[in-house]
Amino acid sequence: MIISITGATGFIGQRLVRKLLSENHQVRVLTRSRSKAQTFFPANNFPGILIAEESEWNDCIRGSNGVVNLAGMPISTRWSSEVKKEIKQSRVGVTSKVVELINNCEDDARPRVLVSATAIGYYGTSETQVFDEQSPSGNDYLAEVCREWEANALKVNKDVRVALIRIGVVLGKEGGALAQMIPLFQMFAGGPLGTGNQWFSWIHLDDLVNLIYEALLNPSYRGVINGTAPNPIRLKEMCEQLGHVMGRPSWLPVPEFALKAVLGEGATIVLNGQRVLPIRAKELGFSFRFPYVKDALKAILSAETPS
Ligand code: NDP
Repeated sequence: MIISITGATGFIGQRLVRKLLSENHQVRVLTRSRSKAQTFFPANNFPGILIAEESEWNDCIRGSNGVVNLAGMPISTRWSSEVKKEIKQSRVGVTSKVVELINNCEDDARPRVLVSATAIGYYGTSETQVFDEQSPSGNDYLAEVCREWEANALKVNKDVRVALIRIGVVLGKEGGALAQMIPLFQMFAGGPLGTGNQWFSWIHLDDLVNLIYEALLNPSYRGVINGTAPNPIRLKEMCEQLGHVMGRPSWLPVPEFALKAVLGEGATIVLNGQRVLPIRAKELGFSFRFPYVKDALKAILSAETPS
């Protein structure tokens, strides 16, 4: 298959590109910056990849068999009103553009599948509720972003199969939450963030990439699919496991004020969580390589090369 990907230069995208190439698919990287993309995918190591800046996205999408939409400015940062605008625009705006380009294709050149990222922030946060794909949306800022993000993906031509992956906290060595959390843990001797009672619905990067891959290839994958492991945990348990795997104690909580000082409103992502179950993925028969966080962390922290 020929697959066009926005956000291919990111944490998830880079791994997805490798997976697709290893399975002999062709990849088109839709980026804002060719020079940046070339640093991740140098021509000598990635000879088959086509890198396209925004003005060329149209030609890439036309004739692709599938599109994966992973673009989005990082959210774990201090949220000013400008940043909040950008957080939303970088998701909703890019999704609209991709959908418009897909819709403008002639029927015989239109991609047949769109796999679009969204996030479990859709559900809002709770220490007591359990969320699955049928659960209603929350009423905070991230829930609003996710609703608009998804609504724009669903504007795609009706002949295009759409899979919306509501992604949980992705665990991998090169980026995402772990890369941000580890230094904080180290400063505070590896304890939980805030109370530690908040839910942490995580997924190993490889499982997420395999889920996206299945969603591209398997026509049964459509609609909303939670991209989370089957066994979410409370954050204090996650920290205990991390401390255990790292051979460090986990006892002092990182105080809420310290997190807010670093992340401002963005601290809500780690201070408030949600317990999300991957009901659809299970119904679809998706097999998680890492259902338990302990095994996921062990695999990630022991891997020398990208894990
Ligand atoms: P990254 O931050 O690693 O990469 C996202 C990519 O989006 C970048 O490589 C960049 O591509 C593009 N991008 C960044 N800023 C902007 C901007 N202002 N406007 C347009 N495009 C931008 O993200 P991840 O790989 O971690 O995540 C991919 C998607 O999955 C994101 O939409 C994210 O919200 C979502 N997600 C991720 C989770 C996680 O734990 N990682 C959890 C839940 C959802 P380029 O520079 O090439 O254009």
